[in-house]
Amino acid sequence: MISLHQTRIKTNNCFTILAIESSCDDTACTIIQSDGKILGEEIYSQKEHIRFGGVVPEIAARAHMAHLPPLINNLFEKSKISWNQIDAIAATCGPGLIGGIIVGSSFAKGLALAKNKPFIGINHIEAHALTVRLPHITNKIIPFPYLLLLTSGGHCQCIHVKNIGFYKKLGGTIDDAAGEAFDKVAKMLGLPWPGGPALEKLAKEGNENAFQLPHPLYGRNGCDFSFSGLKTAVANLLGPYQHLSSLPHSFAADIAASFQKAITDTITNRLENAIQMVPDTKYLAAAGGVAANQYLKNHLNKLANQYNMNFISPPIQYCTDNAVMIGWAAIEILQKTLQNDFIPDDIHLMPRPRWPLSDMYDRLKN
Ligand code: AMP
Ligand code: MG
Repeated sequence: MISLHQTRIKTNNCFTILAIESSCDDTACTIIQSDGKILGEEIYSQKEHIRFGGVVPEIAARAHMAHLPPLINNLFEKSKISWNQIDAIAATCGPGLIGGIIVGSSFAKGLALAKNKPFIGINHIEAHALTVRLPHITNKIIPFPYLLLLTSGGHCQCIHVKNIGFYKKLGGTIDDAAGEAFDKVAKMLGLPWPGGPALEKLAKEGNENAFQLPHPLYGRNGCDFSFSGLKTAVANLLGPYQHLSSLPHSFAADIAASFQKAITDTITNRLENAIQMVPDTKYLAAAGGVAANQYLKNHLNKLANQYNMNFISPPIQYCTDNAVMIGWAAIEILQKTLQNDFIPDDIHLMPRPRWPLSDMYDRLKN
């Protein structure tokens, strides 16, 4: 833990954390206890981007600034928690869209200084990785090590989660994230943004074997991903249709189903390689917005069974970006680093657009 200030408060092994997430287009805050009990949560998924068909970073940062103060007020009002019950304030410090991260982390630091609480800077990816350990997701905390597929609008990676602070990235996307591919293909089909959920719904009406789409990197060594070729193949199929209005519904549904199958087959194949890289691992976890996709989850579950692994994925609201995962990561880190009952303070930790998971080990040593 980067401990730049001497700790200001003492705890009794039970903390209550106020946590803020603002790294993309979700403005979120929560109050969570160290036993995993969520005392309140507020989230605003920014609608400001809908007319652009994708997240506009500058608009996202301004929207976080506008929505965070009322969300925090609602959070305290609804949860009936007072400031003196809060032990520390956590916020995402990276990686992600830097404007939003600056807004959220500066807001949290301002509150920390004003209310005389320690600040804890959280790595967004580490938080996704630890969410599956939230106690109320299953009836026991998932033990380390586990293999995580993190697949969202901005990320697609396989991570070996060995312990708090000990993460190994086994592979990642060399171009688009899976969520980005879902969103772009959905846009080509005239579906509303964010496209993943709409595409999954449309796919239910289609024939998944209607089109043989490419399976980038399928069968190759390693567990890197590539999705941009898949997107281009869909664009080529749509080429003859000049206007989306002329697109037959059944044709669009067949494309959606075939795309969902191709991306799922590819992810499953890459993950099979990842499983073989970490034979000691008994749990396969999936997190990130795309892990909300039931078709993908069914295939991941089958894959896990095939390797005698347990499959686990957080409920949808904790798969997509949320503040509970930031609060829970802070709790896990504090439980690991707490010395003499004192909470250290990251008040000088800088917001950063990139923050490799390999840096997380160092913070445990400091
Ligand atoms: P996140 O980046 O974790 O907030 O998740 C948002 C991303 O997840 C967007 O790219 C969504 O399109 C994608 N997503 C959400 N639900 C689904 C779904 N059911 N199927 C596929 N992608 C989804
Ligand atoms: Mg999001």
